[in-house]
Amino acid sequence: MSTPHIVIAGGGYVGMYTALGLQRALRRGEARVTVIDPRSAMTYQPFLPEAAAGSLEPRHVVVPLRRTLKGCDVLTARVVGIDHAAKLLKVEPPQGEPYELSYDELVVAVGSVARTLPIPGLKEVGMGFKQIEEAIALRNQVLDRLDVATSTMDPATRTCALTFVFVGGGYAGVEALAEIEDMARFATRYYETIAPADLRFVLVEASDRILPEVGPDMGRYTVNRLRDRGIEVRLNTRLESATGHHVVLSDGDEFDADTLVWTAGVKANPLLTATDLPLDDKGRVKALPDLRVDGVEHAWTAGDNAAVPDLAHPGQLCSPSAQHAVRQARVLAANIVRSLRGEELHDYKHKHVGSVASLGLHKGVAQVYGIKLRGLPAWFMHRTYHLSRMPTLSKKMRVVLDWTLALFFRRDVVSLGSLQRPRDDFDRANR
Ligand SMILES: Cc1cc2nc3c(=O)[nH]c(=O)nc-3n(C[C@H](O)[C@H](O)[C@H](O)COP(=O)(O)OP(=O)(O)OC[C@H]3O[C@@H](n4cnc5c(N)ncnc54)[C@H](O)[C@@H]3O)c2cc1C
Repeated sequence: MSTPHIVIAGGGYVGMYTALGLQRALRRGEARVTVIDPRSAMTYQPFLPEAAAGSLEPRHVVVPLRRTLKGCDVLTARVVGIDHAAKLLKVEPPQGEPYELSYDELVVAVGSVARTLPIPGLKEVGMGFKQIEEAIALRNQVLDRLDVATSTMDPATRTCALTFVFVGGGYAGVEALAEIEDMARFATRYYETIAPADLRFVLVEASDRILPEVGPDMGRYTVNRLRDRGIEVRLNTRLESATGHHVVLSDGDEFDADTLVWTAGVKANPLLTATDLPLDDKGRVKALPDLRVDGVEHAWTAGDNAAVPDLAHPGQLCSPSAQHAVRQARVLAANIVRSLRGEELHDYKHKHVGSVASLGLHKGVAQVYGIKLRGLPAWFMHRTYHLSRMPTLSKKMRVVLDWTLALFFRRDVVSLGSLQRPRDDFDRANR
């Protein structure tokens, strides 16, 4: 019998941790593992806001797949179709023609994408906050706008440059806003013509609360703290349009803003519709409690792209979070090994312990095991918790070094947006 081929579509939290688990548990020759992801590194998303704020080096919040998964084959390519009946994946490499790849066991771990709405102007003006390049682009954009504001003679251009809108009050949006605001107000000390109060930050949230992950009390606390910092928190408000950078809100307010960040939730990866796997009404792969795909053999799933029953809260599904993704991946890897060895599978059960969120340097909010923390203790807990979760010792050490350096030196507030246009100077010289 030939060696079973396990293919993992997606090298994020679930994909990378499943591959790590398999790498450790499989005996030599027991199975071959291939991980496919269009990115060559896994992104530790909870550290994106700190990377955007310059507290962490961007390279230190990503984990190279090839270096970490030495016992696996890693393909830098995109899965564009799954024919599970034939056990074939359609794979699109960065260059060249798409090809088919066969497997014996499939792990579907392609995560989620930003849940956007058909709002006029959003596609052209908005930016997401899910990937490392988006975090760095946002940092560059904000610092670049300070440069624009201080150099223009036109008041309207200046006001537009200094207005920053974030849509969506989950932890991605709130942490990104809070860290960026903290960094931008700090940066104004280097701009003679810009006072901290000249910056306008607006958080737009369609429901009546923010940060549902930390509970209603801590959500209210966060609204108050953000408002104390001069951030406009608009609850029960929707973005109606953003055409040509003119932002119109459902509460009747309208103004110009150069920067619009969209963090209003996620939806399952649309790739799943190009498969023959069973999906729920939200487009997620239906999973059994042991993380097999419901109703089919030799397919497994977990994380943001999966509808996994939450056995700790019967009748509910696990929320899309890193907390579930990492733990599910461990059970998933162990179950694949068990199934190869003909052993009994285990169910995934984990009681969500709560959440921690950073609100800028030395500020935070947390609710863990029912204990509520605010300010410095919550911020400290945020850092220690995520440091403990950061994959690989080398990345942990680099993160600690970044934080240690930040204790002794002031934040670096330089925009390197020009990195995205490396040919500009050479092109000008050739004119
Ligand atoms: C800014 C931010 C902060 C967050 N903070 C927290 C937090 O504090 N606590 C918490 O619990 N959760 C947090 N989360 C959520 C958490 O990061 C996700 O729930 C987690 O990443 C889900 O893991 P996953 O493996 O399902 O998806 P991901 O980690 O997103 O992995 C999916 C992978 O699939 C790859 N992929 C996509 N399409 C394809 C394709 N067609 N073919 C092959 N590969 C593909 C992607 O490149 C990616 O590597 C945060 C998220 C963000 C964006």
